[in-house]
Amino acid sequence: MSDYMICNTIPAYAEAPVSYEMLKIDAPLILNAILEKQEKVKYLIVDKNDNELASILDEWEQSKAGNDIRIIGVDCKSGFTYGNATAAIKVIGGEKPIPSGMDQDVPVYSVEDLLGLSEKKVFINGSSRLKGAFSFPREVTSRAILEQCGSVKEFKGLYFGYPMGLFVSAEQLDVEIKLTTDLVTILDTGDCILDRLAAIKKTYQKESCGRCVFGYDGVMQINRILSDILQRRCKIGDLTLLMDLCSEMKKQSLCDIGAAAARSVETAITGFKGEIEGHILKNTCKAAVCNKFVTFHVLDNKCVGCNKCRSACVNDAIQGEQGFIHVIDLDECTKCGACVDVCREKAIVKAGLIKPRGLKQPIQCNK
Ligand code: SF4
Ligand code: SF4
Repeated sequence: MSDYMICNTIPAYAEAPVSYEMLKIDAPLILNAILEKQEKVKYLIVDKNDNELASILDEWEQSKAGNDIRIIGVDCKSGFTYGNATAAIKVIGGEKPIPSGMDQDVPVYSVEDLLGLSEKKVFINGSSRLKGAFSFPREVTSRAILEQCGSVKEFKGLYFGYPMGLFVSAEQLDVEIKLTTDLVTILDTGDCILDRLAAIKKTYQKESCGRCVFGYDGVMQINRILSDILQRRCKIGDLTLLMDLCSEMKKQSLCDIGAAAARSVETAITGFKGEIEGHILKNTCKAAVCNKFVTFHVLDNKCVGCNKCRSACVNDAIQGEQGFIHVIDLDECTKCGACVDVCREKAIVKAGLIKPRGLKQPIQCNK
């Protein structure tokens, strides 16, 4: 048995401060649970900028004079490296949270682990009908989460974690998932998996400690390939290249964070291959999210002829004048999206494969 233990309350995801909130709600319960641990030295890692929490901890310390919990305040509200056990060990030594190897048998506890709770609290976000904190059994199916939280449009899948995590598709609804993350994102037909994956990888690159060639440079290469796909510059074979790269990252990254980054790409490609290949082979974004794969259209039943979009279009791609239903010239449109932002009537829409029927020329509107 190790001679020390750590309770880490810094959230890996700012949107899902599970341990942190539990500590603030009932600090004495958690502090007493730490005291009950057998290890000689006990650490509690907290956000040092939270004055309210600091006074709760002060009050408790005074009431328990002689307790041996060492409270370590860090200047950070979240960051996925804090979720790594080997990085937490660096933190108690006064160093930055830099992982030092695969998670070994390190005595680092979340508050839920410490209390031995049978259920796991997770924050649900994304395209779910209900958002916020929910509790689920530690082994859960995506179906159970979907039944509780729903999706705004037709359900497409889930993402467990952020930025590292696992995509689960609608076909895998009944596969049991070990709930280790504090954040679950529900995805529906309004979400593009490729767009989500690119955002996830950018966040990973920003937060990564940068020490490991396969973990950091591997994700840079992934980002380059994803960006090429999104800019319609990709080559056939890029998906195979991504899978090969991920396989090497899993073997050669210094810590589990790099391997987890690779797994998120693999699960996206295996679970949503058709949708991702659609961008490469058919130049389509099924969800009409990725600008390079969509066209912009004015809905003639909504346009009131205010002319705002025409002023906003620096490419002169919109025809029409005050009082006329406007029309977008698809040959001139560079898909910048500026017109969508200024149209108060929500009359300009992006379309993927299925395009709305529109006018060829502006005509006077009767609104
Ligand atoms: S599309 Fe929107 S912004 Fe453009 S003229 Fe019609 S209502 Fe106005
Ligand atoms: S998307 Fe940009 S270029 Fe295209 S019509 Fe709208 S403002 Fe003009």
